[in-house]
Amino acid sequence: VTRFKMAVRSSSISVAVAPMLTKLQQDCATPLPVLRSVADSMSADMRAGLAVDGGSDLKMILSYVDSLPTGDEKGLFYALDLGGTNFRVLKVQLGGKDERVISTESEQLSIPQELMSATSEELFDFIASVLENFAQKGGNFNLPPGRKGEIGFTFSFPVKQTSIDSGILIKWTKGFAVSGTAGKDVVACLNEAMDRKGIDMRVSALVNDAVATLAGARYWDDDVMVAVILGTGTNACYVERMDAIPKLQGDFSPSRRTIVNLEWGAFRKGLPLTVFDRDMDAASINPGEQANSKFNLSMLTPISLIFEKTISGMYLGEIARRALMYMAEEGSLFGKSVPEKLSLPFVLRTPDLSAMQQDTTDDLQTVGSVLYDVAGVESDLNSRKIVLEVCNTFVKRAGRLAGAGIVGILQKIEEDTKGAIFGKRTVVAMDGGLYERYSQYRRYLKEAVAELIVPETSRNIVIEHSKDGSGIGAALLAATNSKYERNL
Ligand code: BGC
Ligand code: MG
Repeated sequence: VTRFKMAVRSSSISVAVAPMLTKLQQDCATPLPVLRSVADSMSADMRAGLAVDGGSDLKMILSYVDSLPTGDEKGLFYALDLGGTNFRVLKVQLGGKDERVISTESEQLSIPQELMSATSEELFDFIASVLENFAQKGGNFNLPPGRKGEIGFTFSFPVKQTSIDSGILIKWTKGFAVSGTAGKDVVACLNEAMDRKGIDMRVSALVNDAVATLAGARYWDDDVMVAVILGTGTNACYVERMDAIPKLQGDFSPSRRTIVNLEWGAFRKGLPLTVFDRDMDAASINPGEQANSKFNLSMLTPISLIFEKTISGMYLGEIARRALMYMAEEGSLFGKSVPEKLSLPFVLRTPDLSAMQQDTTDDLQTVGSVLYDVAGVESDLNSRKIVLEVCNTFVKRAGRLAGAGIVGILQKIEEDTKGAIFGKRTVVAMDGGLYERYSQYRRYLKEAVAELIVPETSRNIVIEHSKDGSGIGAALLAATNSKYERNL
């Protein structure tokens, strides 16, 4: 740190930038009390959302996943996985306890940009046609003739579930602004598209990606209690006792459990924010929200920022770009002229930040070439160091806040069960490109968890990458909810 400060002082360019960087680091700071307050607010918001619908920023959506995979599931099932960036279709052959997953065949494509602002019918026709092509290919395992294919549909957007196989899209998030889906049952939308194509399959389970990830990880490990997605968007879910969900009326024995989807992207309490976050929020298609789309124009009042915009992959690059732009304009970070391309929103992406942070060369060559390639920026060693500090500042804040969120969930379960979580091995299943591919992010997240939980306990908390759990998870939930196979 000292060496870096000296380097800054010795450069004439950076003299104006140094106080800007200091201010940024102060605004983004996440010392223990900040983390603790985020964790505590997360727990409190969870309770408020479980008490009544609309009682909190956290929707605490019931998944209707009331039986978790056990390993006994058998048969051939399909899964569709519509994420923020990619669309996947899978076919999974399950062989029960001994054989487990006998075979998986899958196909993945990135969602064409124009589909993200297409009509609902266009989007679902696209999904149905990819499914049709995939199913027609055959492969090593196939359904007996005449048997309907059953689908687990992973849909990575906030849905108000009405049953395990139906649910209404509350709003699009991430970059999606497809018209005509909000307020509709997405399974009905898919069924209509399958009808138009003459595809004879049925959706047995509609699940959020966090829920599917939890199910997928639980299949291998009974200690999985929480799942977290950190990718383009972000979310978390966990296993809850039904008798701890007041809004779910009825008498439940404490042994009955279900998965609850927090939709934590909408969390907003006590987040340390900068002017760049606020500007980005104001300029987004969904100010004040995790994500909105054109459907809700009543939210234009400036509100504090949202968890998703602070910690997920879609926005980190853009927040950093805004800070760098400011430093270029007001502090001549890159010399006298301001690189024109840097003024383009979203030109700097989160994978670019990650690539720069992996640079280990003395003259920060990768940083230099990323800056040049993506934003036409000519940089010297001093400006590259500052760029890295800026990236690190936002990534550190993001990773640590995500970690605090996870502790908030664990704390809530612990408070209810008195020792059932912190007293034994508990697994948090993680997935998403940001977590998977950004090592600094991962490290900051784990550090925050370790700071917040006493050492004896944190030894029991296992934060584990569950790669592509959401695809298999959806197929498993199609199996546990199958009309044809006995899987319970
Ligand atoms: C959506 C969630 C989803 C998450 C991760 C968010 O934008 O609201 O439903 O789980 O992204 O994909
Ligand atoms: Mg995904």
